[in-house]
Amino acid sequence: MNKSTQCEASEMLKRAGISPSYQRIMVLSALLETDEHPSADTIYKKLGTNIPAISRATVYNTLNLLVDRGVIHSMRTAGSETRFDSVCEAHSHFFCRKCKRIFDVAQQSGEIETELDGHLVESQDLVYKGLCRECRGEMIK
Ligand SMILES: [Zn+2]
Ligand SMILES: [Zn+2]
Repeated sequence: MNKSTQCEASEMLKRAGISPSYQRIMVLSALLETDEHPSADTIYKKLGTNIPAISRATVYNTLNLLVDRGVIHSMRTAGSETRFDSVCEAHSHFFCRKCKRIFDVAQQSGEIETELDGHLVESQDLVYKGLCRECRGEMIK
């Protein structure tokens, strides 16, 4: 795993007031290195091959802590699986119903409403669904 990513992960943890243990750094690094919005299980399997000592509970707890402190974001897919995202700028998502990958796409809706029915809007998670570029290609073949 990339050394500079680990430095970045360590800095992000410190800024969020989380003590940067080796396992936490590895969990966050794994997320920073992918744009595929993995589930906790995907991250656990990826790390498990390099760090045999890491437990599933550590991965889950670390991800939840990172979401709590606003370091990363989580979202639920249609199948109500929780997936994680390290990108913090406002963006929308595209969920492919075939390969189940989630892609970042530019925020489409221009202005975000700040108030709806008296509720204060703090963020907006827009998820488009359909077939991704690759899966579309396979359908055409
Ligand atoms: Zn796809
Ligand atoms: Zn995203």
